[in-house]
Amino acid sequence: MSDDHALRIVRTVAALRAHLTPWRENKQTVALVPTMGALHEGHLALVRSARQQADRVVATVFVNPRQFGAAEDLSAYPRNEVKDAGLLAAEHCDLMFAPAPEEMYPPGFSTSVSVEGISDVLCGAARPGHFGGVATVVTKLLAQALPDVAIFGEKDFQQLLVVRRLVRDLDLRVEVLGVPTARASDGLALSSRNAYLTPEQRAVAPRLHTALVGAAAALAAGGTVKAAEAAGKAALEAAGFERIDYFEVRGADDLARRGPGAAEDPSRVFAAAWLGKTRLIDNVAV
Ligand code: AMP
Repeated sequence: MSDDHALRIVRTVAALRAHLTPWRENKQTVALVPTMGALHEGHLALVRSARQQADRVVATVFVNPRQFGAAEDLSAYPRNEVKDAGLLAAEHCDLMFAPAPEEMYPPGFSTSVSVEGISDVLCGAARPGHFGGVATVVTKLLAQALPDVAIFGEKDFQQLLVVRRLVRDLDLRVEVLGVPTARASDGLALSSRNAYLTPEQRAVAPRLHTALVGAAAALAAGGTVKAAEAAGKAALEAAGFERIDYFEVRGADDLARRGPGAAEDPSRVFAAAWLGKTRLIDNVAV
């Protein structure tokens, strides 16, 4: 690896901008990959896409307190910055921005970004305030780095739509790119939260993807939304999921409810369900 491609780690907005300025002056394009760390192959797929999109890649590692509810796993969320830095370096990421919470939210911080409508359903209904926290931190990261491209995973499809909407509504000059979900060989979507699963739960977890694929296939074969959603929920219960937050067919552009009859194009099937204290989400295209 040439020194020019060594990973630099910065923790302040000022240091981030100090690295970005000469790149801009040299007409180099920048891709931003926001993450909460505990990086896995799914995140690295985003970094690889970023590499193809721009001359310089900036990954952010920030466990954003504002997107966690009071009863959620903020303090338990996995953190391993040294390992993250090694993985990013191996992918030829140029810069890792890992701010402390006080750098992002200094005393007196009082602004929030809220994207109405699409933030209120699915994970937004199950996790009140979550997408406000996401929209606020993503807006800040985009303002801090002013990237040409920002990369997000389809694993969090609703988040991707929220970001697309805020970028459009606030006239931000950035292209938002979605990357397909990286999965384990048994279909389980890779997630930092998979680390919480016991071996028994890990064996059940891929059935979430199986149920989604089953629903998408039934819809594609002309089945109704009502039947596909009922069969999906029944499959999750039979597999051993203890609680189902949702199993729903919705519009892929606007998250509008589909059904009860056939699903119009473009639709996706979305699910969130619990194994013990771990909440898993996934979605597939119809
Ligand atoms: P997180 O660290 O969980 O906030 O995720 C950071 C980014 O990585 C988000 O854009 C996620 O959608 C994306 N991501 C997480 N898991 C995956 C996956 N399995 N495949 C693709 N992208 C992912």
